[in-house]
Amino acid sequence: MKALEDRIRTDGIVKAGNVLKVDSFLNHQIDPFMLETMATEFKRLYADAPITKILTIEASGIAIACGVAAKFGVPLVFAKKTQSVNIDGSVYTTQIESFTHKRTYDVIVAKRFLGPEDHVLIIDDFLANGCALEGLIHIAEQAGATIEGIGIAVEKGFQRGGQIIRERGYRLESLAIVESMDADNGEIVFREQ
Ligand code: 5GP
Repeated sequence: MKALEDRIRTDGIVKAGNVLKVDSFLNHQIDPFMLETMATEFKRLYADAPITKILTIEASGIAIACGVAAKFGVPLVFAKKTQSVNIDGSVYTTQIESFTHKRTYDVIVAKRFLGPEDHVLIIDDFLANGCALEGLIHIAEQAGATIEGIGIAVEKGFQRGGQIIRERGYRLESLAIVESMDADNGEIVFREQ
């Protein structure tokens, strides 16, 4: 999506350790017009899919996913990071290793918000090594829900997540795919899509 690539070129900051900071419009301060444009594009890409629920993980996926949920007219459910144990069996649980925070989180989704009747579109802001997506897929699988597809704002194509998820047979649409980025001169190259 050209508008997103242009915005990343102007406002994205390439950090050491393969981290792209987009907190002036996506991850801290949020530009609602950019979110709206992204949501419209996800709706166009998945117009043919019978989506009943959008699934993401807190915190930075929520804003994007909420715009997408509004376009499809369906609820958004976000996986919550938690310390509490699943004593009464009322939640699906999985573990996700955070790329940016270098630690592992237990995450949960309440069983009453996701079930076998659901057709899910998974949305997240970034795709790096794919741990967040693997966790969300695991949650949807536990629910017996159908995964219609995955929508990512920024995929870092030089990390392995995209390839792993596509090889598993999932439909994965990324609005911008970074082919390479250089922390020394700030240069960002996007994959032609
Ligand atoms: P993965 O689980 O695919 O390794 O990483 C994806 C998650 O880590 C995303 O949910 C996102 O929050 C965070 N993340 C990974 N790489 C980046 C990055 O370059 N920039 C930002 N802002 N977040 C990232």
